[in-house]
Amino acid sequence: MKLVRSVCPFDCPDACGLLVEVEGGRAARVRGDPEHPYSQGTLCPKVNAYERSVHSPDRLTHPLVRTGPKGEGRFRRASWDEAIALVADRFRAVAAEHGPEAILPYSYAGSMGIVQRNAGMAFFNRLGASRLERTICTPAQDAGWSALMGKTPGPDPDEVLDSDLVVLWGINAVATNIHFVKRVKEARRRGAEVLLLETYETDTAPVADRTLLVRPGSDGALALALVHVLARDGLADERFLAAETVGWPEWRARVLAENPPEWAAAETGLPAAEIEALARRLAAARAPFIRMGGGPSRHGNGAMNVRCVAALAAALGAYGRRGGGCFLGTASSQAFDLADWLGEGLATRPARTVNMNELGRALRELRDPPVRAMYVWCSNPASVAPDQGAVLAGLAREDLFLAVHERFLTDTARYADVVLPATSSLEHVDLYRSYGHHTVQRVSAAVDPVGEARPNWEVFKLLAAAMGFEEPLFRMTADEVVDLVLERSSTTGWWDGVDRSRLAAGGAVTIRPPRPPGAPRWATPSGRIELRNDRHEEPLPRFVPSHSHAARGGKLPLRLVTAPALYTLNSTFQERPDLREKAGGMTLKLSPAEAAARGLADGARVVAWNELGEAAFTLRVTPRVPAGVAVAEGVFWLAQTPGGRNVNVLTSQRLTDGGNGSTFYDNRVDVRAG
Ligand code: SF4
Repeated sequence: MKLVRSVCPFDCPDACGLLVEVEGGRAARVRGDPEHPYSQGTLCPKVNAYERSVHSPDRLTHPLVRTGPKGEGRFRRASWDEAIALVADRFRAVAAEHGPEAILPYSYAGSMGIVQRNAGMAFFNRLGASRLERTICTPAQDAGWSALMGKTPGPDPDEVLDSDLVVLWGINAVATNIHFVKRVKEARRRGAEVLLLETYETDTAPVADRTLLVRPGSDGALALALVHVLARDGLADERFLAAETVGWPEWRARVLAENPPEWAAAETGLPAAEIEALARRLAAARAPFIRMGGGPSRHGNGAMNVRCVAALAAALGAYGRRGGGCFLGTASSQAFDLADWLGEGLATRPARTVNMNELGRALRELRDPPVRAMYVWCSNPASVAPDQGAVLAGLAREDLFLAVHERFLTDTARYADVVLPATSSLEHVDLYRSYGHHTVQRVSAAVDPVGEARPNWEVFKLLAAAMGFEEPLFRMTADEVVDLVLERSSTTGWWDGVDRSRLAAGGAVTIRPPRPPGAPRWATPSGRIELRNDRHEEPLPRFVPSHSHAARGGKLPLRLVTAPALYTLNSTFQERPDLREKAGGMTLKLSPAEAAARGLADGARVVAWNELGEAAFTLRVTPRVPAGVAVAEGVFWLAQTPGGRNVNVLTSQRLTDGGNGSTFYDNRVDVRAG
């Protein structure tokens, strides 16, 4: 038996260190690496027995070519030579007839590894294919933060240990950031109060002293009213605001005029007296630390929600105090220069951009040229993309050639013309960074490839050769790509003092945001926190209604929250029967009042519906969900759902107010007996 270090590859801020016990080229057991500086030896329930995913009997072990109707999942075995030739031939034919923009790459964070996740970028740039706007997750967060803070990284997440008031704002951290929860518990043990601000009582509620529920999408309204109370009652940190920000006088005047607690009570559902009390509690804290999750950003007003909450932390002066501030992520992407690896210089002409949240529209409505070929890796859009009805109708087009590179026969793979078997993270080389802390780790293959599975980068090299691309990049090994990325990134300033030999040996190393001597503390054009940003079409943080706000025509009675779950991560882990059983299938949570109003009992079969479609659920009646809200946790594979559709048949392709992000939490539904 040998022990190999690795990293959890999934889309999670924790990027846990793994120890793989390898026997006979197989992973006998995967456990947490006690030497990892952040995860310190523990893993979440999803990855605790990762060897079961790696060696699942359902792994794809050889290429497949479709023999039945699209979506049915009937295939014949093919050789790699045949499969690669088929994909290359179809790409050549589509490019010749319609131009290369008729080819659409589609990928996201099925692996967070910098090599495998981005493996197709150079190939598709060289080909001249359409470019995918990869904005399904955090772009509204980024847009909201950068409107205020520019490129300033947030506080170090470990500073939460020094806080005396922790606010978990729109984050079910027990499901999505479990090692941060450990630190929150430690802060609480040291005397901090912990508040949870949420749209329903999640599994994170027991971590907090108190949970405050607000209406989905009303986070910005709450933040503005809190600032109103701070400004009105002389509780804002005027010294910090005068020294470190621009625009406070104008913003102060606006929130005083427009955003009193009584107004916010109507928007948020939180009584005005509670808003007043919360503002006073925040102002009394020595170092309030707001950990903001993705929830508030996944609305039509998501960027403004984030901007308002981040600006609230400025009004409190929290950024100026150790243990205080607003944390969304580490901005560690700034540590990497990926331009050469992504083949930015290989594109010979500009190509159009297709937003990944609008895949349904792209497949059905794009012209000049239409999408006639698509290649999917590290994603499962049939399950996870919004407006599933439109996506599936697009994938079912007979004139669309679809190639999918995957570990399992996912819902998307079932629609493929060619399926290519992919390696798991234990079977290939990669380089990982975390967006929830500051470690970087380089990993080697720990086990032999399962069957004929190949890494993403190997397959794109085969495709490049088949297409006649001769650039040296397409001959590099994955290890050489890691070397290239590290070498190009060495000038970003984040790598000073990094133990390079430890990195080369597979150990986790810590990178830090640069603080050049004499540089302003705030990485904005003015060098201050920009409460007023005249480059932005909205110069001041202000109230913007969500898409499903009544003022924008939201009519159906229930706001649908499509929340993360404990035992799935988007559509990943559905291959594991043990985790499927724990996840308990598609359930919809409603308050007792909403269930009673519809004559529905706990455990009933129900259908949630809106103008986009309908999905079948088992009803859970619980007082943990407020009236006016329906909660569906987890994204299930369609093949395992009762009606062949998951919650994304109810989510729309509408985008956020900044960053062109997804609006998964900003939809309305009603529910009836199924
Ligand atoms: S999913 Fe997240 S918490 Fe779970 S093992 Fe992976 S990185 Fe750690």
